[in-house]
Amino acid sequence: MTLDVPAPVRDRIGALARHADTALPAYLIDLDGLRAHAGGIRAALPERVEFWYAAKANAQAPVLRGLAGIVDGYEVASGGELRHVRQTLPGARVAFGGPGKTEAELAAGLGQQVERFHVESPHELRLLGRTARRLGATADVLLRLNLPVGTAGAALSMAGPFGLDPGLLEECRSVLAGHPELRLRGIHAHLASGLEAPAQVALAARILRHAAGHREVNVGGGMAVDYGRPAERFDWAGYGVGLGRLLPPGTTVRIEPGRAVTAYCGWYATRVLDVRHSGGAAYAVLAGGTHHLRTPVAKGHDQPFVVLPADHWPWSWQRPEARQMPVTLVGQLCTPKDVLARAVPVVRIRAGDVVAFGMAGAYAWNISHRDFLMHPPPAFHYLGREGA
Ligand SMILES: *Cc1c(COP(=O)(O)O)cnc(C)c1O
Repeated sequence: MTLDVPAPVRDRIGALARHADTALPAYLIDLDGLRAHAGGIRAALPERVEFWYAAKANAQAPVLRGLAGIVDGYEVASGGELRHVRQTLPGARVAFGGPGKTEAELAAGLGQQVERFHVESPHELRLLGRTARRLGATADVLLRLNLPVGTAGAALSMAGPFGLDPGLLEECRSVLAGHPELRLRGIHAHLASGLEAPAQVALAARILRHAAGHREVNVGGGMAVDYGRPAERFDWAGYGVGLGRLLPPGTTVRIEPGRAVTAYCGWYATRVLDVRHSGGAAYAVLAGGTHHLRTPVAKGHDQPFVVLPADHWPWSWQRPEARQMPVTLVGQLCTPKDVLARAVPVVRIRAGDVVAFGMAGAYAWNISHRDFLMHPPPAFHYLGREGA
């Protein structure tokens, strides 16, 4: 596992570690790194392909603003995300997806210039049509298709509660026929998460085949992020070339990745409180834990990390440590599930050292059960510039 900490992140963690015990744990968001990475994605895609960001991966305002001018728009998955994105970036293009939209959320979307509604069922289409009629509004719709996908290689398949079986399209057509306030713009599909570029290209080809004749197709997100190989990146160049070969003339094609855009810009840095040896295994107990960074528990992986040695040790007794052995990194929660990385070989880790976890920029703080045990929340530091 090789994890390179960018110099600005390393410097800031060093400064925080020297500052005060309460300065850690902290999240550091590398906005320059984010913008460079997202700019690389944009450059790898065919010019005609629109690059939208799925805000639920990380909707922190500086992150959303950092992506402005690079992404074409933001996909929101709730009324709360819609309000937040609108407040943060009033003029941004917004699409509204998500499996359980309420009438109030649909009404909010109609009142807030949502550019596309990704509709998941005939009922939702009827509800949107009725709400639009009541408000004297119109709605532009993509129907979210649920195609059976071979799930080999995918971390998560979206089969099941999401989207419409192709057999339901007929019913949707008749709803649309009765609702002039609904304009069908095309097809949406987000079928799997964690696919590498060749599988994503093959998936896009299938979606585009099913969507033949539609003027607009959103082929979704789910581009792979490999937490076991932090130096690797999804092959955006290969994906861009593959997608470029598929583009039907006159059709607008969109992608809406989340994780693969923001995972790499986030760092969670914390202090080793204690090192224990128990039952032949070594445990480093860290300040904070999975109530700040739930990603490794949610995904079932070891969160990649580096140990940053800190030489200051204020106590008169011997410093607890582990050397040249596998160490399990746990947090402060009273549950054996509070594990950030399991039995990972380390050269040396001591109480008082700092640990920096990488790949903590997507589905990290925002999915964490932050109130469990009432430890203080981490601080947030945004490094670099939000805009060009
Ligand atoms: C979550 C989600 C995405 C983004 O998925 P990632 O795996 O983060 O790329 C895109 N579209 C929809 C509809 C989603 O629910």
